[in-house]
Amino acid sequence: MNIAELGLPMVIPAPDAPARVTIWEVGPRDGLQNEAEILPTAIKIEFIERLAVAGLSIIEATSFVPARWVPQLADAAEVMAGLSPSASVRFPVLVPNERGLNLALAAGAQEIAVFGSVTESFARKNLNRTYDEQWAMFEPVVAKARAEDMSVRGYLSMCFGDPWEGPVALERVVDAVGHLRDLGCTEFSLGDTIGVATPGHVRALMIALRDSGIGLDLVGIHCHDTYGQALANTVAAIEVGVRTVDSSAGGLGGCPYAKSATGNLATEDVVYALHGMGFDTGVDLSALAETSRWMSDILGRPSQSRVVRAMQPYSVQ
Ligand code: MG
Repeated sequence: MNIAELGLPMVIPAPDAPARVTIWEVGPRDGLQNEAEILPTAIKIEFIERLAVAGLSIIEATSFVPARWVPQLADAAEVMAGLSPSASVRFPVLVPNERGLNLALAAGAQEIAVFGSVTESFARKNLNRTYDEQWAMFEPVVAKARAEDMSVRGYLSMCFGDPWEGPVALERVVDAVGHLRDLGCTEFSLGDTIGVATPGHVRALMIALRDSGIGLDLVGIHCHDTYGQALANTVAAIEVGVRTVDSSAGGLGGCPYAKSATGNLATEDVVYALHGMGFDTGVDLSALAETSRWMSDILGRPSQSRVVRAMQPYSVQ
């Protein structure tokens, strides 16, 4: 007997359920980019296809960054070429600049994401720009993508704390989202890149965004589990009206052996919680967990997802 056959989780609907929460699956990009051992392109394509079969409707497929930055994703064009077009599944890709956008367009990408920083320190270290200069870098990328009728997601790093600067003021995040909105971004993802947020902080930031005129229907939350807060923080965002959640199948990207790779929230763990709260995600949890077990066999280590581990078949004595 497994947990699904037992009828768990028991569903106690949240006050505003039934409603849908969209999972923005980042495993093939944000998860795999942390893997040192280069996976075959065919495995990446199979991974994405299995995620689609498991019911994920947005799967961030790869990143058109220079291969020297992220060797694992050097086959971005080949991965895109191998995906079957789908009317029901979106395959956004990350692009750092105009060159990346041109490569993404040539590969047939239909939507993109750009990656900005809320803090000065991370803008300098990650983008080699100041906080103010980064918007000028994104401007032609977003403008061209919008002219091509692509939707553009704006990611923001360090929204809840920065490893060099410490706390990040809520107003700073509101300001950065406003810049991305003014550039033409169609939605936003707020990243707790070092995993330091707590639920009240998440709630306060979401309310500050809403009060500034940013609709929470355009906002996604991207939590890392460094301090064990990712699921609680994600649920806090849902409870104030966020309806898009970033997560990574099996918690990929949380390699315990790589210090720089802090754990992404595992998709299975958040789906389990959302289903118990009465939210529809469209995800078949058993099929997803099976996919994560398949991937963890390939990577040669256990899944980081607590739900994947708990759903291993067991006998009731
Ligand atoms: Mg992440």
